Amino acid sequence: MAQLSLIGVTKTYGSGVQALWPIDLEVSDGQMVVLVGPSGCGKSTLLRIIAGLESSSGGSLLIDGVPVTHTPPKDRDVAMVFQNYALYPHLTVRENLEFGLKMRGTPRAERDSQVASAAELLGLNKLLDRRPPQLSGGQQQRVALGRAIVRKPKLFLLDEPFSNLDATLRASTRTELLRLHRRLHATTVFVTHDQIEAMSMADVLVVMKDGKVQQVGAPLDIYRCPANQFVAQFIGFPAMNLIDSGVSANGNTVDVLGTSVPSPSSASPGDRVTLGLRAEHIAIHKPGSGSNHIVSAKVILLEPLGNEILTTCLAGGQDLIMRLPSSTNLRPGHEVRLALSLEDAVWFSSESGLLLQSHLMPVRATP
Ligand code: ADP
Repeated sequence: MAQLSLIGVTKTYGSGVQALWPIDLEVSDGQMVVLVGPSGCGKSTLLRIIAGLESSSGGSLLIDGVPVTHTPPKDRDVAMVFQNYALYPHLTVRENLEFGLKMRGTPRAERDSQVASAAELLGLNKLLDRRPPQLSGGQQQRVALGRAIVRKPKLFLLDEPFSNLDATLRASTRTELLRLHRRLHATTVFVTHDQIEAMSMADVLVVMKDGKVQQVGAPLDIYRCPANQFVAQFIGFPAMNLIDSGVSANGNTVDVLGTSVPSPSSASPGDRVTLGLRAEHIAIHKPGSGSNHIVSAKVILLEPLGNEILTTCLAGGQDLIMRLPSSTNLRPGHEVRLALSLEDAVWFSSESGLLLQSHLMPVRATP
């Protein structure tokens, strides 16, 4: 187990592509940190730099306070699980598991015991004499994890390890990995482009875009209080509703889809501001409910998900997405009145996209 520190780590590839702008990140002992962001945002580059498979162009990297920026991969004591598992197809599961230990000259008795405990942990006992082509995707994935575990590394690095699994297996493997993490408490950096996977796995979420960290924090804090409009739309399903409006001439109110709401405290008259509302913060207005931010809308689209229906309504020329119970009688074309729950809202600057105000909590944001 280990602590990892990245200080101003940058990467410019030979082609001139700046893949990473200065990245600062602290990973505490035993944490599961998930790097998430759209394809091409620099997640794999950062993970490969931590593994030592790619050199950084600037900054430094420390494991347990020891600088390892120029340490070769084999001396970093990290284990990486790749997207394609990178198993040796001609070796049995047992041989794959013990390969790294053999290369290090670990005595046979110790190898056997390490392999036995990893196989037990991952339910691989009955598969030890098979070869990778005789295994399912999920089983291969477990062997790849097992190969990392037997080495007892300081740091686990996982690069989209579930991307070759179908949706059902992906969900169950995710649960397995979380259970394993709870038992081993191994410091882990996990890369995914899937924000749902990221939310469900992370102790700490690192949201990236264009080679820059957008926000670091606990998943729920980021969900409730995104640092900017990109994070608001990338994290959470469905994406946050964003409503662009102008602050009134006296600076006190904002007209949001025909209802007047108090303006964010830091806004000035004439500023463009964007109200952010999650789907669960919009409801069908019940007369007498005391709600006072009501907008008229028309139902456009219903997407049944089983337990609820994602419903898109058109209000003031803008799509709003909300959740309705699956028992709803509403149909496309129906006129509705929607109550906006402004106490849960966040405000962004429409110009910079940065968070202006939230009623929930302060954020640690990297502009
Ligand atoms: P992600 O893992 O988030 O999809 P990557 O780290 O793979 O992103 O890539 C980040 C950026 O660096 C992209 O623009 C990608 O095209 C570029 N890149 C990645 N690897 C190389 C390479 N070996 N040479 C040049 N550019 C690269």
